[in-house]
Amino acid sequence: MVASVSAHKDTGPLPAGEFSAWLREMRAALAGAADSDVPCGDCCACCSTSHFVHVDPDEQQTLAVLPRELTFPAPGAPAGHLVLPYDSRGRCPLLDERGRCAVYDRRPRTCRVYDCRVFAAAGSPADREPISRRAARWEFTYADEAARAEHEAVRAAARFVRENATLFPGGAVPEDPAQLAVLAVKAAGAFVADGGKTGDPALATSGAETARAVVEAAERFGSTPGSRGESSRVGERADAPKEPAGRPRKPHG
Ligand code: SF4
Ligand code: SF4
Repeated sequence: MVASVSAHKDTGPLPAGEFSAWLREMRAALAGAADSDVPCGDCCACCSTSHFVHVDPDEQQTLAVLPRELTFPAPGAPAGHLVLPYDSRGRCPLLDERGRCAVYDRRPRTCRVYDCRVFAAAGSPADREPISRRAARWEFTYADEAARAEHEAVRAAARFVRENATLFPGGAVPEDPAQLAVLAVKAAGAFVADGGKTGDPALATSGAETARAVVEAAERFGSTPGSRGESSRVGERADAPKEPAGRPRKPHG
């Protein structure tokens, strides 16, 4: 279990950590190099808001403890890819009544890397109201002006993608809020001006060049804007089995 935030009121601000440090950790999680470490406290919003959790065939530790009767094959995915659905209340079947994950130590990869602070970073709402409410409470701190510029760069990236879909190949940009926020984190480097003093750099280049830079940034993480791969790591949960790359996180062990 991560650090508790239970001393905070349900509506008050929550410390999200220093922005640059968070961004590094988030990118490491996106690259598959680390788990997210969200100070979730007693929140379990992302495990109880009707999302499907995809489990890849290489997740042996998880598969070893996952009751197979709770899963079904991921539609459209190769054999071995599974989906963990949700119950009639929208809760993951592995979430107990106290809000604890029954397989926390071996939870699915998507749960390990989920971090709702990505919405606060991108300045955009989540795909579910309870998660949006939680995300709206996060407050980052900044070690210096460069950290502020990095945050503005993430927001600028999110705005740019949202407002310029036609500049991307096939108009393919993420429709899912989490995918978009994740893409903004990946592509923020393209929005930091020389010297790192402003986060609005797209500015020195044409829209087409900026879109190309966003695509290249996503590709460095092994995905392209709008692709399924874009959604398969941090920050996302799927709405329906047709796109089973969703992902919540259960902090409570
Ligand atoms: S990651 Fe999930 S459980 Fe943790 S604070 Fe965010 S919504 Fe709540
Ligand atoms: S972390 Fe949440 S969504 Fe993931 S398996 Fe555990 S209870 Fe289910």
